[in-house]
Amino acid sequence: MSLIDTLQAFPILFITAVTAMSLAIGSFLNVVIYRLPKMLERQWRDELVDLNGQEVAAAPRYNLMVPRSACPACNHPIGALENVPVVSYLVLRGKCAACHAGISPRYPFVEALTGALSGYIAWRYGFTWHTLATLIFVWAMIALAFIDLDTFYLPDDITLPLIWAGLLVNIGGVFVDLQSAVIGAIAGYLALWLVFWGYKLATGKDGMGYGDFKLLAAIGAWLGWKMLPVVILLSSLVGAIVGISLIVFARHGRNVPIPFGPYLVMGGLIALFWGDQLLQYYLQTL
Ligand SMILES: [Zn+2]
Repeated sequence: MSLIDTLQAFPILFITAVTAMSLAIGSFLNVVIYRLPKMLERQWRDELVDLNGQEVAAAPRYNLMVPRSACPACNHPIGALENVPVVSYLVLRGKCAACHAGISPRYPFVEALTGALSGYIAWRYGFTWHTLATLIFVWAMIALAFIDLDTFYLPDDITLPLIWAGLLVNIGGVFVDLQSAVIGAIAGYLALWLVFWGYKLATGKDGMGYGDFKLLAAIGAWLGWKMLPVVILLSSLVGAIVGISLIVFARHGRNVPIPFGPYLVMGGLIALFWGDQLLQYYLQTL
């Protein structure tokens, strides 16, 4: 029996393999979430210096691979054994092995979340192209949600390829037909663009950023235009619940901005997994 036959014949093996691999992907997403904004910042600074006709100072290389991960407190390099997703955090009790500085629980959380969602996808869609495409979509969405949470910014380096990838997978009709995907991408962008300008004209303030438009365009490209009202409704609902709870319980100032990206991601993921049922239920009750 070949490896592929084995994975097809024993779903539990496939689900376990996907979950284990995705924990490592989650570990990589942590690197992307932490480093990509810093990489872009460096790039923009260098471009600005270059535009001003100054010499760009040589800086040590900094990308997703280099330098190796190290403790931010004591620079102790993080070895392979200290880098096992979730497990290392538990064994080290959330502290650096060298200096005992606390490690953010965000890291194992992102790893566990990525592993759990990926395992669910493998269980739900089985050994198919649908699973592979869905995994890529969800991994990108996780990275975007946390980058936006940290920096109020959704990098084009993720949103734009995600739009193209959505159109590409739907050439084969993996999620929806190509026509729904193209209209979804355009309508997703325009819907939030209209909300942005409406809000700006009414209040003179920026309610969200252009990254949000591109993120909803990507969700539209993957899930089709019919899912957009569901996504917007769900994101606003989750956003309202979290926003009100923050103001009431955490005394979060009413005027302190909250990024919209994480809510779009949550709305997009709920629509990905249960959108069809929600849409059907909604149309029936009408
Ligand atoms: Zn340390």
